[in-house]
Amino acid sequence: MIFTETRGNDGTREARVSFSSALLSPIASYGGIYSPEPMPPIDTEFLGRHLQSSYKELALALLEHLKIDIDTETLHRALDLYDRFDDANDPVPVVKLDEKLFVSELYHGPTRAFKDMALQPFGLILSELAQQQDQQYLILTATSGDTGPAALETFRNRANIRVACLYPDGGTSDVQRLQMVTEDADNLKVIGIHGNFDDAQAALKSLLSSQTFNQRLGELKLSLSAANSVNFGRIIFQMLYQFHGYLALVRQQQIELGDPVVLHIPSGNFGNALGAYYARSLGLPIAKIVIASNANNVLTEWIQGGCYDLRKRDLIATTSPAMDILKSSNVERVLFDLFGATRTRDLMQQLDDRGSYQLAAEEQERIREIFAADSCSDELGKEYIRQAFSRGYLMDPHTATCFKTCQSADFKDQVNLICSTAEWTKFAVVVDDAINASEADSDQAALASVAASAGIEIPQVIAQLFNKPIAHPVVVEKQAIEAEILSFLEAEG
Ligand SMILES: *Cc1c(COP(=O)(O)O)cnc(C)c1O
Repeated sequence: MIFTETRGNDGTREARVSFSSALLSPIASYGGIYSPEPMPPIDTEFLGRHLQSSYKELALALLEHLKIDIDTETLHRALDLYDRFDDANDPVPVVKLDEKLFVSELYHGPTRAFKDMALQPFGLILSELAQQQDQQYLILTATSGDTGPAALETFRNRANIRVACLYPDGGTSDVQRLQMVTEDADNLKVIGIHGNFDDAQAALKSLLSSQTFNQRLGELKLSLSAANSVNFGRIIFQMLYQFHGYLALVRQQQIELGDPVVLHIPSGNFGNALGAYYARSLGLPIAKIVIASNANNVLTEWIQGGCYDLRKRDLIATTSPAMDILKSSNVERVLFDLFGATRTRDLMQQLDDRGSYQLAAEEQERIREIFAADSCSDELGKEYIRQAFSRGYLMDPHTATCFKTCQSADFKDQVNLICSTAEWTKFAVVVDDAINASEADSDQAALASVAASAGIEIPQVIAQLFNKPIAHPVVVEKQAIEAEILSFLEAEG
């Protein structure tokens, strides 16, 4: 697998790089990112051969087919992390809701969101590469909720990696915050900041451009890497479960090998959808990839009308916060794959300069051959949660947005597979409000209320959080972040 740059090459870096190199240093020329060259297709025969394979066997066969430069032993150990999911034999259950509607539950990992699907193996591989190169890496992340817990969980006690994670104090759910501040390991630092997610992200950016900070990193012999969803080391693991979901439908005799299915994906930064895009490019029979959004419906507008428009838009806080994003970084890889580097650089430049770009008619047509889109309001999402619960299914508000896209007349008669991205437990207050019209204002009360209504236990990994000691009590003003992180790095070095 070879990667090239989405905005072309500026002559100062290598134009073609390996998987491991794209994973260690994900930033490319002109502010672009690395994208794979055309990959060898996968045919029905390959799928047929893996009809009875376990998740890990299938994943390994796909990764070997793609020829990434990671040794087999490391890949085995990375994939063994799926054994820590609820059911080691079935880490991604595919559940039938009705004749034409299925859910691929991607949240059965340690932090109860789909981020674990990729971050679990990614963390092991990054640490392995760092050790092989005898290099120390620092991962800096700002999180609005789900990436932080999943990144901390995967890098905990991993050799040659340190993580500093910023979160907006008061801007996450209680469960998400506890998942971070109770992660106790010497190589992890979690810092709450006074402000919202944008403030956290801005603080991170200014840190990355701070001269004193970078100089000190050099003295400490620390290199920076990134664990955000722009890193292809995450995207690759988000392709694999689409093959698994498809084969599960064949095994359950819902479709025959070769039949098309429609995928529905609750989207934010477009990483999950991009994995599906590559799976489709490889030959998986996906009729359409349907992008579900909340009120921040930039992607809906882009897919339906070809205009990516950030003007006159402010970020709206919704009940599906992991999708509260306006600039979806991974869209760039679709532009590059379909229209090439010159056009991509031009379009991204327009977006930076004017806050918008408009695709030509032929370009729009190509996008709409592959994607469809719609957005779902918080109110309607709550209604879908209520309806699903009355039929015995509990789901979270991100997953609920896909019930809108599934209703479309275009897809009603097709086989629809929804990617469920979080367990209800991470957003219990919203779920409790939907099914009990309750006004519980803490996660703990809402968890108890929903569990009682559903006649189930609160999952142990969540219930335990409320009794764990707080390892990271620090909440600071933005100006104090640099000093906090440096003192952590110096103490640890
Ligand atoms: C991250 C996340 C999303 C959005 O996924 P993208 O890959 O950023 O599009 C959706 N739902 C949940 C619960 C998430 O954590």
